[in-house]
Amino acid sequence: MSHRYILEQAKQELLSSLEQRGISPAVLQALATVPRERFVPEALQLRAYEDTSLPIGHGQTISQPYTVAYMTDLLDVHPGQRVLEIGTGSGYQTAILCTLGAHVWTIERFSDLAEQARQTLHALGLYPTVIVGDGWEGYPPAAPYDRIIVTAAAPEIPMSLARQLKVGGKMVVPVGQKDQHMYRIIRINENEFDVYSSAQRFRFVPFVRTQPPDNNHVHAAS
Ligand code: SAH
Repeated sequence: MSHRYILEQAKQELLSSLEQRGISPAVLQALATVPRERFVPEALQLRAYEDTSLPIGHGQTISQPYTVAYMTDLLDVHPGQRVLEIGTGSGYQTAILCTLGAHVWTIERFSDLAEQARQTLHALGLYPTVIVGDGWEGYPPAAPYDRIIVTAAAPEIPMSLARQLKVGGKMVVPVGQKDQHMYRIIRINENEFDVYSSAQRFRFVPFVRTQPPDNNHVHAAS
């Protein structure tokens, strides 16, 4: 059997299992469109449609497909929205956001991961703005955003990022130490934020703080 055939079979199985777990048709469609095998190291390509995270170098991982799908559903992305992603990694989540019609700014602290992701995305005809830098500061030049997604585990809700949301905007971020609950923050008005957290637990690589913490971060009760 050809590799293409094996991958296609595995992809269909993954999509039907995600459908059974309640992922929306729009997000399933985006996952069907984006070739995940292009975002994993060559040696792991045959495992691209296992529902698991995989190493991408620098001790980082491409997130598990279910996690990407769950976060994308919670984020509720619409075409034309301005979306900020923290933690480009492989660029797979970025590709899903672009495929949903968002204008994407994505920040990665490892320059070679950012460069690799940019090349993979360009080869697929996707052109987000890829920025090398520290995600804790967000990206003020393109703020405010309709949506913000953090793809690494934050020790607390990053309020510096939440303040880069438009009123009515939403942020999805995994919060916790050893494992994480998924948080969705909605900016109700200039000063108020609605906070929801999932019962489900996830496990992410850490959102590394390369700057000293500011004292405006709110502690999350999980
Ligand atoms: N969305 C990615 C997930 C990558 S894992 C994917 O689908 O492949 C999380 C990424 O966040 C890692 O690449 C890590 O280097 C990056 N990261 C962690 N802390 C960061 C920070 N402070 N600023 C920018 N990127 C960060």
